Amino acid sequence: MAIAAKAAPAPLPRMTPPREDLNPFRIAQYQFDVAAEYLKLDAGLRQVLRTPKRVMEVSIPVKMDNGQVKVFTGYRVQHNIARGPAKGGIRYHPNVTLDEVKALAAWMTWKTATVNVPFGGGKGGVVCDPKRMSKTELERLTRRYISEILPIIGPDRDIPAPDVYTDAQTMAWIMDTYSMTVGYSALGVVTGKPVSLGGSEGRNEATARGCLYVIEEACQLKKIPLRGATVAIQGFGNAGSIAAQLLAARRAKIVAVSDSRGGAYNPRGIDPTRALRYKERAGTVVGMPGTSRISNDELLTLKCDILIPAALENCITLDNADLIRAKIIAEAANGPTTPRADEILARKNILVLPDILANAGGVTVSYFEWAQNLQGYFWQEDEVNRRLEFVMKRAFHDVYQTARKYHVHFRTAAYILAVGRVAEATTVRGLFP
Ligand code: NAD
Repeated sequence: MAIAAKAAPAPLPRMTPPREDLNPFRIAQYQFDVAAEYLKLDAGLRQVLRTPKRVMEVSIPVKMDNGQVKVFTGYRVQHNIARGPAKGGIRYHPNVTLDEVKALAAWMTWKTATVNVPFGGGKGGVVCDPKRMSKTELERLTRRYISEILPIIGPDRDIPAPDVYTDAQTMAWIMDTYSMTVGYSALGVVTGKPVSLGGSEGRNEATARGCLYVIEEACQLKKIPLRGATVAIQGFGNAGSIAAQLLAARRAKIVAVSDSRGGAYNPRGIDPTRALRYKERAGTVVGMPGTSRISNDELLTLKCDILIPAALENCITLDNADLIRAKIIAEAANGPTTPRADEILARKNILVLPDILANAGGVTVSYFEWAQNLQGYFWQEDEVNRRLEFVMKRAFHDVYQTARKYHVHFRTAAYILAVGRVAEATTVRGLFP
């Protein structure tokens, strides 16, 4: 009798490891939910605080330089205005989505509350590729976008500011478009303007400077001398390049910088001013003389004292969190770390200065700019920086105390602090009608 050949074992189903959810809005809601749980907020209040108050989607027809009309999609989201007008930047990027803008708006609500400035949270975005557009196309896009969202913005309602691939020039066009429509010069409708147009001294550097102030506090806590500390920075725009310059001025050693095209590495140190000059000429930091080329992924896992993500969301995830070798992560970018990565970093005893604290210097000096615009009285740069330092260091210590009280890491502590403040304001206002 033939013995039936033993059937080969069925191949195991290809198991793809459970991916983590990278949707930024769901991440923002999860971060909120954790704090709401610690604060034991009631279900109704949670619903109010985790949902955006107002969402606007607009079509933006623009005549391109070749004479053809192209229609872009733009968003403005006001997440919460319980503590004051909505506040938040405008992003131009091909990957902008409504959920990204909703997340960024929510993070603004928690950020303004963390540093305790009297704003709510908002954000705007246009799906476009500004690197492939001329300056005149960008001007027409900006003016039409602003005229579309004009009914919901204004110095008392919602005050935009720069974000990825928008700058002081963009803010000047916004101020002009709004002002021409209402019939008077409304300086307070937007912040991050050129100083010649009612912008604040120190605003351009504020995000990076605020980040520096909290890094100084974190270094004291971790007993790491900033002088000689090694720093890797992902993203070499407003936040990243200025952070590099300010840290180098404090004698920290910038060992790696990067942009969307890749990175430059030199363990003996990179001069950020030279890197900036090289980027102006070459369009990237990649290939800068005296450096070797590294990828953005490699930069994130370099052995260093301080890692500064200063580009986009979701760069520190389940996939690479275990490989991170920095002692402190200062989130100049919004949303660079996922919740799963947070857990791993906490286990590794890496101190994460969360975005809603670490990059809040920008909105803090935006608040100063708005206050100066409403007063019609302008401050000197050292006054701006002094007040910024006070606000950032106060926020750092508020977060630190909350972390100790609840035995949680800094992100959860910042959320407990911020959500608690917004919940309190919402509760005392009461529900209308
Ligand atoms: P920016 O446009 O000035 O610079 C962005 C930089 O990121 C550029 O160097 C770009 O090349 C780089 N980049 C883009 N995609 C990348 C990628 N995939 N990998 C690596 N680098 C990449 O923008 P910014 O204003 O410096 O903003 C950077 C981050 O800081 C964003 O997350 C933004 O939300 C946050 N932020 C900015 C401000 C502000 O005041 N500008 C305030 C708070 C937070």
